[in-house]
Amino acid sequence: MRCTAVKEGNEWVVNGTKNWITHGISGNIAVVVARTGEPRTRNNATAFVVERGTPGFSGGKKENKLGMRASETAEMIFDQCRIPDENRLGEVGDGFRQALAVLDGGRISIAALSIGIARGAMEAAIQYSKERHQFDQPISNFQGISFKLADMATEIAAAELLTFQAADLKSRHLPMTRQAAMAKYFASEVAVRTANDAVQIFGGYGYTKDFPVEKFYRDSKLCTIGEGTSEIQKIVIAREVLKG
Ligand SMILES: Cc1cc2nc3c(=O)[nH]c(=O)nc-3n(C[C@H](O)[C@H](O)[C@H](O)COP(=O)(O)OP(=O)(O)OC[C@H]3O[C@@H](n4cnc5c(N)ncnc54)[C@H](O)[C@@H]3O)c2cc1C
Repeated sequence: MRCTAVKEGNEWVVNGTKNWITHGISGNIAVVVARTGEPRTRNNATAFVVERGTPGFSGGKKENKLGMRASETAEMIFDQCRIPDENRLGEVGDGFRQALAVLDGGRISIAALSIGIARGAMEAAIQYSKERHQFDQPISNFQGISFKLADMATEIAAAELLTFQAADLKSRHLPMTRQAAMAKYFASEVAVRTANDAVQIFGGYGYTKDFPVEKFYRDSKLCTIGEGTSEIQKIVIAREVLKG
């Protein structure tokens, strides 16, 4: 983390940029974690609330994305941006720990988002497979198609159970780092697999914008990347498993 906040009187002066920020241009309020000490360790990060319109705070480059195009992802720029100390969230040096805690919850949200995309793709595929006829019968009669639908339904159900388990732990304020990472990892990979198979079931039309499955296909890929990639989820899960 290179973005810094330096205390001057009762204010913090923030300098640096943040990349890949969801609603980095349109959002009214940003929670910004900045480095507030040396060396660059996990105990030297602090969280601040920065409001849109604060002098020195502006939106930067908007990313041209594969999917999720209705929600902008952009750079945020801080140039001598002065934040009152009352906008500090929590204690000085607590930002890294706070960010990790927020990530656990965010991962449950991405798991739920993944399930929504997967369900949409599956429902579209089920409907199309019953309507589209080839060789004088609906393509849902072909085992090669119906087995794809069976895999989708099974994997989505499993993803839902993992997600409910993590959400239940969170709502009871119990530790859920492992369960949130598992739910996010599994559900996001299911979303990508389901959307991919849905495009396949639609054949040529799957490759057009006439049906929603191409959008599900593009949107689903974010879920294996945002809030920590699948590889990072596996690091988290493995660490938890090896704790004993
Ligand atoms: C649409 C979108 C919205 C986003 N919104 C936000 C936001 O609002 N706020 C925010 O803070 N961030 C946001 N992000 C950033 C997002 O969290 C990161 O892009 C994501 O965590 C991956 O980090 P990276 O891009 O630096 O990839 P990298 O870390 O460069 O990873 C590249 C590849 O290397 C792999 N890799 C990296 N380290 C390891 C390792 N130790 N072991 C094995 N493999 C590894 C990764 O899994 C990946 O495959 C957003 C990203 C996108 C695409």
